Amino acid sequence: MSPREPLEGTNEVRRILQFYRDLGFKQIYRRTPVAISTPAPAEMKAISETIELPGLVPAGDTLDLIRADIGDCTRCRLCKERKKIVFGDGSARARLVFVGEGPGADEDEQGIPFVGRAGQLLTQMIEGTASKEGIPLKRADVYICNVVKCRPPENRTPEPDEMEICGQFLFRQLSVIKPKAICALGSTAAKALLGGKDGVTKLRGKWHKWNDIPLMVTFHPSYLLRPYNQNAKRESWEDLKKVLHFVYD
Ligand code: SF4
Repeated sequence: MSPREPLEGTNEVRRILQFYRDLGFKQIYRRTPVAISTPAPAEMKAISETIELPGLVPAGDTLDLIRADIGDCTRCRLCKERKKIVFGDGSARARLVFVGEGPGADEDEQGIPFVGRAGQLLTQMIEGTASKEGIPLKRADVYICNVVKCRPPENRTPEPDEMEICGQFLFRQLSVIKPKAICALGSTAAKALLGGKDGVTKLRGKWHKWNDIPLMVTFHPSYLLRPYNQNAKRESWEDLKKVLHFVYD
């Protein structure tokens, strides 16, 4: 975009400003020539003014608005092979949000996150652990979503640019729900929410923060389905107990 093009009032400008905001810029400055009809060099003073960037979360945002903004999304290459966009599932007033990596085949068919084998295990973990700990909690009371909303081909890990693009919707979902805690399932979700390169083994079992909201990292349930991961299963249950007591005690 040429710096001389008018800046006011276009969606394109908003998109560009949001891009800069994503990069971490909180303010930008523009130099605007003073409008005079017969400009003379000595009179062409330039003034600087501050433009506050729009937030990533529009005022009055809701889950319905986010879903509407996603629409029939083609913002990244994951749109090509998906059957259904998998937005999220659960209560908009959830005090606990689980974030996974991306939809698998069953989720892609049904448009609901965590409904395949891994999802059934997650449901058992949530409801079973809560019940054992004396916490009346059903899956429908929490909110479950993924970093990317469309299934990566062959269930591959989402690429950084796909997570970056789709991550704006996750950011808005978490900002709208404002849960008491977030549980990141697996390394991909942990990296998307915390940045950094550390994997689950290093991050799990401790509290971290996402925008001031306490965040626990634990293993993705699909990892726990592998037969040789007994230790990881035990550790996941410990992590989940910690989260449930923190949120619901
Ligand atoms: S993964 Fe997200 S950004 Fe990419 S096409 Fe699907 S909804 Fe759009």
